[in-house]
This record gives sequence, C-alpha cells and structure tokens, in this order.
Amino acid sequence: MKIAIYPGSFDPITLGHLDIIRRAAACFDKVYVCVLSNGDKKPTFTHQERVELIRSSVEGLENVEVETYGGLLADYAREKGSCVLVKGLRNATDFDMEYQMAAINRGIWPELETIFFPARLEYQHFSSTMVRDMIHYDQPMERYVPAPVAEALKQRKARQI
Ligand code: ADP
Repeated sequence: MKIAIYPGSFDPITLGHLDIIRRAAACFDKVYVCVLSNGDKKPTFTHQERVELIRSSVEGLENVEVETYGGLLADYAREKGSCVLVKGLRNATDFDMEYQMAAINRGIWPELETIFFPARLEYQHFSSTMVRDMIHYDQPMERYVPAPVAEALKQRKARQI
C-alpha cells in the first residue's frame, strides 16, 4: 500500500491545498493530511478546528484522513508506515524552503522522500496568509477556500462585529 503524508499548518485550508490533496489522493492508496501543531504564532483556527474544516472539505475522498501532530514529522510518517511527504510548490520561494526541508527530513530519516506537486496556475497566488488578510474585507471567500471554511470565516467575522 502506497501511503503519503501531506503536512502543513492549514490555517485555514485553501482551494490550493485542496487541489494538492485531490491530486495526491489520485496517486496514492492513502493520504494523511497532517496539521502540524508546532510553531504557530497567532493562529486563526485552533488545530482541532483546522482538522474539522479539512475533514469537511475532503468529504467524498475516501482514501484521505486528517489528523494533527505535535512532534517530529519524520516520526509521524514512520508511525503511519509512510516514507513519502507530499508538498505543493507555488514558486521559487516555496522551492528554496521545501528543498531545504526535504534535506532536513532526509537527514533525520534517509528513506524519507519528499515529492513535489506544482501548484495549478489558478491557485499559484493562494496562501493561508492571503485568506487571513482578506477576512477583514467584504470578499466572497468561496473564491479562495472550500465552502465549509468560507462559512466558518463568515461566522467568525459576524462574531467580531
Ligand atoms: P501556507 O503557506 O498557505 O500557510 P501551509 O504551510 O499550510 O500553507 O502549506 C502546506 C503545503 O501546501 C506546503 O507544501 C505549501 O507549499 C503548499 N501550498 C500552500 N498553498 C498552496 C497553493 N495555493 N497551491 C499549492 N500548494 C500550496
């Protein structure tokens, strides 16, 4: 069984992330989306909220599971019986960072491979940071995030007013 891990902070998940999950799910027997719960400074959603939002967004993708993990990614992958990390690449900045991360992970566990999926053109400029910024303006969030996230952002905004 070919198992892959798609890690990230997903605060919140965007349509760009969802596209990578769909494409990874088509290539692997099982994909674990892992919400890494270390190093967030000012999170918009708690880790558990992010997990729930991703779960609602991937409904129908039978081979995708969503979890949160607070330890070393290599340990998580080992626990899941996977030696493949999936990453999305939007641009050269992502590449520089992810290339380094891949080397670090391989240094921890030499068999741990990182596979890159190029972002689709229409999602290349999407990021969780952009979504968090947009929440302050009257923008249709469905353009950037899956419907359950758009709804959660709407509710959050209503509570803040
Ligand atoms: P962000 O950079 O948006 O805060 P994460 O840290 O959660 O996102 O990123 C998790 C993974 O998803 C990384 O591999 C990142 O490069 C990738 N990713 C983020 N946004 C996109 C996108 N719009 N298209 C493809 N991949 C993306």
